[in-house]
Amino acid sequence: MKQLFEIHPWKIIENQFHPEANRVSESVFSIGNGRFGQRGNFEEHFTGQTLQGSYVAGVYYPDKTRVGWWKNGYPEYFAKVLNAPDWLNLMIRVNGHKLDLHRALRIHHFRRELDLSNGELTRDVDFNHSEDVRLRIQSRRICSMADPNLAILEYTLEVVEGTADISLYSGIDGTVRNADSNYDHSFWKGVSSEVTGNSAVLVSRTRKTDFHVGIAAHTRILTDQGELKAVDQEQSRKEVKALFEHTLHQGESIRIEKRIVIESSLNVEKSVVHQHVKERLNAVRQLELADLFQANQSVWESKWEESDIVIEGDESAQQAIRFNIFQLNATYTGEDERLNIGPKGFTGEKYGGSTYWDTEAYCLPFYQATADEHVARNLLIYRYKHLQKAIENAGMLGFTNGAALYPMVTMNGEECHNEWEITFEEIHRNGAIAYAIHDYIRYTGDQRYLAEYGLEVLIGIARFWSQRVNWSEDKQRFVMLGVTGPNEFENNVNNNWYTNRIAAWCMQYAAECVEQVKSNWPSEWMRISEAVSFQLEECVTWMDIVNRMYYPFSEKHQVYLQQDGFLDKELISVSELDPAERPIVEHWSWDRILRSCYIKQADVLQGMYFFEEEFDRETIQRHYDFYEPLTVHESSLSPCVHSILAASLGDEKRAYEFYLRTARLDLDDYNNDTCDGLHITSMAGTWMSIVKGFAGMRVQDNQLTFKPFLPEAWTRFSFKIRFRGDLKLVEVRKDGLYINGSSTASKA
Ligand code: BGC
Repeated sequence: MKQLFEIHPWKIIENQFHPEANRVSESVFSIGNGRFGQRGNFEEHFTGQTLQGSYVAGVYYPDKTRVGWWKNGYPEYFAKVLNAPDWLNLMIRVNGHKLDLHRALRIHHFRRELDLSNGELTRDVDFNHSEDVRLRIQSRRICSMADPNLAILEYTLEVVEGTADISLYSGIDGTVRNADSNYDHSFWKGVSSEVTGNSAVLVSRTRKTDFHVGIAAHTRILTDQGELKAVDQEQSRKEVKALFEHTLHQGESIRIEKRIVIESSLNVEKSVVHQHVKERLNAVRQLELADLFQANQSVWESKWEESDIVIEGDESAQQAIRFNIFQLNATYTGEDERLNIGPKGFTGEKYGGSTYWDTEAYCLPFYQATADEHVARNLLIYRYKHLQKAIENAGMLGFTNGAALYPMVTMNGEECHNEWEITFEEIHRNGAIAYAIHDYIRYTGDQRYLAEYGLEVLIGIARFWSQRVNWSEDKQRFVMLGVTGPNEFENNVNNNWYTNRIAAWCMQYAAECVEQVKSNWPSEWMRISEAVSFQLEECVTWMDIVNRMYYPFSEKHQVYLQQDGFLDKELISVSELDPAERPIVEHWSWDRILRSCYIKQADVLQGMYFFEEEFDRETIQRHYDFYEPLTVHESSLSPCVHSILAASLGDEKRAYEFYLRTARLDLDDYNNDTCDGLHITSMAGTWMSIVKGFAGMRVQDNQLTFKPFLPEAWTRFSFKIRFRGDLKLVEVRKDGLYINGSSTASKA
């Protein structure tokens, strides 16, 4: 395991340049403000290992599907979040040679630092550019949390030794490409550009989807002799830049202030994007840099006020949880119901920046407990707005009567995942969307949500399940054939217990909610039942399926089986696997994985976690003991569920071990894939491991309950929770649980 970063409670610090791991560091040093985000790329030219990444929320490109054999029903495209025009963009020549750390003769000092308390990313490098010129760069940047359109960059270049003739282009580069483009297409077209003095505007539009993104930048260059004026400019439809020239002698420096305004046609009419960003930039130009940094800091302070977790006695755990919370807040702020949480957020291209079941199954609890109610509500409304598409999606697969199948991966409600075993078979995702409605209402008490939005979604989902099952004459039960459960290391299985269980739960919950809305909001019920042409017999059908659903069960082991035939497999515990063959997904053929007993991530145990109140402790323990030893945890979403279950079973040691695996997953690059971006959705799982795991927080009968324990390595931990209008401070100390400073039993 590489240890690239120093341990610090509030900072991520890299105090040495690791060129071979630069893509990992770039991911870790990503910053964002919910509307756009930026990997930790250097501002100046860099020819070493790098993945350029600048992303604008909701702006995507439908990249034509690339598969060997086309199957009917495949989506036409895979939606990709776009690598957007590069606004950092400084191209500096010193004595005629490009400034490029990859080509630096010697690096004397290197420090990159992300301050989690305010989202400021800084860098300090002292290096020899050539034998006789030694330079120092100090930079600082933010994606402002106070102004969702604003980024700020401050960059100082000092000559430590020698004399430097500097020529510096500051610009916006729209010639960027996605590294994961299926056909090596450029996804952007230039719309308009302008350079006036030190200011530049570039508007680009996406091919096919026609999103317009406008970026305006104003660069001030300050020297000891005053401010520099641009001496030249270059302008094309895809790139704009202003040229500055200056000679620096030993001990002298220039300071660059770059204010950047970013806006997309998601929020502004296409025809006025150019004018809009230009005017916003003019307003921002009048403001002091210090004030802009301060405004950002204040918003971060209030975010921390409500979402911080304090861990005493273990700085590494403290750093990890704050890093996770920081990235969750930088990815999604919940102000816009059209946006969602991609598994990599604004930190990489993998997973296309699209929405997965991760949002409902893993992320919702964090946002629901640490932000205003509307934030979690907006995550649910996102799916409500996609209901029609989910009905069309099910229709394309042959389902009728308003049955809804939500996509496995989506940007706009359309399915855009294209591996048949997931697209067509990993249908359990529908269940998580219904479960999230239940989870939200249980937590917030916002019953009205059902009448306003929730019930229509639940009806669509229940209709889907009722058509997806079939009656087995042989078993005299309803069965579900040809599915992939959460464990993607099994495909096309029959009667995956988790899928059957969540399907039955959805139908039962939908039937109950129909009754609730009918009696509590009769006029809303009239509207909904008419809109979806509801027949009351539907509830009868659903309940019949619920009552006669088949669940594979082993009498011998007294456990539900992951799927039919699971016991035919050779059951050999993961501990007997050769460590050199782990992760198996990188070492074994797919065929071998499918035939093996190894489980990628919680599957039966995911169901036990969701529906824990249905099972007694012994039953959960038996299932945990049976399945965990067969689980390889090769999804980042796996350890957190196991940590929570282990905690509820009183296995504090294992709960802590699993926590460590999720908490420092990216900081320590456990899975060797942080170079592709951060595991944003599993970060919410880390938060859950502490709150639901170690503190044992649950909602029961409209009250928060706790069953806490203090990990051995910690002396105390505390977190803030919003619950029904109150902000509570929950502390777990050696001598027990404290809420708002008072010792308490287990309820709040
Ligand atoms: C997991 C899925 C998850 C996806 C995105 C996959 O590896 O198996 O459950 O939705 O990653 O995080």
